[in-house]
Amino acid sequence: MTDNLDIDRSLGFTIAARNARGRLVRLGPVLESIISAHAYPPVIEKLLAEALVLTALLGATLKDDSGQMTLQAQTEGGPIDLLVCDYRGGELRGYIKFDADRLAEMPVDPTLFALFGKGYLAITFDQVATGERYQGIVPLEGANLSDAAESYFAQSEQIPSLIRIGVTRGEHGCVAGGLMLQHLAEGEDGRDRIHTRLDHPEWEHVAILGSTIKIEELAQRDLPLETIVWRLFNEETEVRLLGGASLTKGCRCDVVHIRDVLSKFPVEERASMADETGKIGVDCAFCSRIFAIPVAELENAAETTK
Ligand SMILES: [Zn+2]
Repeated sequence: MTDNLDIDRSLGFTIAARNARGRLVRLGPVLESIISAHAYPPVIEKLLAEALVLTALLGATLKDDSGQMTLQAQTEGGPIDLLVCDYRGGELRGYIKFDADRLAEMPVDPTLFALFGKGYLAITFDQVATGERYQGIVPLEGANLSDAAESYFAQSEQIPSLIRIGVTRGEHGCVAGGLMLQHLAEGEDGRDRIHTRLDHPEWEHVAILGSTIKIEELAQRDLPLETIVWRLFNEETEVRLLGGASLTKGCRCDVVHIRDVLSKFPVEERASMADETGKIGVDCAFCSRIFAIPVAELENAAETTK
């Protein structure tokens, strides 16, 4: 039996002697359900899969569970208009808005520049518990999103990082995996550093081992994440596994919430929002769904609270 799947999960680990931390993520059904809400061409599907893996890797670095991490690509001149993904407490969502005609003119394996033009990647951490918000913006340069994320960490957080992401599509649908390794100098939080030292010998050692990871290993559904950690780092004196966390598809577009938001609008305004059948259409770009809420069914929160 090869039914022992290791998917829709992340696993953290540390290599204390090298001052390194790492995380592995693998997405399967969660990825498939996010993607299947849209009819994406293969290039867009792969890009969104990479972005979602990256989001799961970065989101896991949030210190509090209620915090949110948002990955957003702002673009200028490419066929992609917008890419947004976010993570909150293990919940992932994301979508891409693009110009289908212009995308069709692209070569088979377009570069980041071909897709985004002169684009930027904005990475935002909202720590809800402390009210802290931190945003870093880097140019969308390099071969793929992981390159851009590595330069985000080097430039905005002064943390040397190695990020690898693999995406495959086979008989079981889309499966994607990612590895992130980071060097944290003793007792330091990256943002306090003055400059990033990318050539620290202990970091070079970890990065060399980490870069032997194969795309197939990252996206192999039945290869336990723990086995990958062992394959890469079994010669290290101590590798501590930090435990795994499951990942799910999550969105905040439920009918109850939408009604609640709409009921706060003044009655006249709601009436003007409704179509000729008396319904207000609210669409969720993440889920590619439209909710038609009958105005007559809304409560008058605006009046009752005053
Ligand atoms: Zn939604």
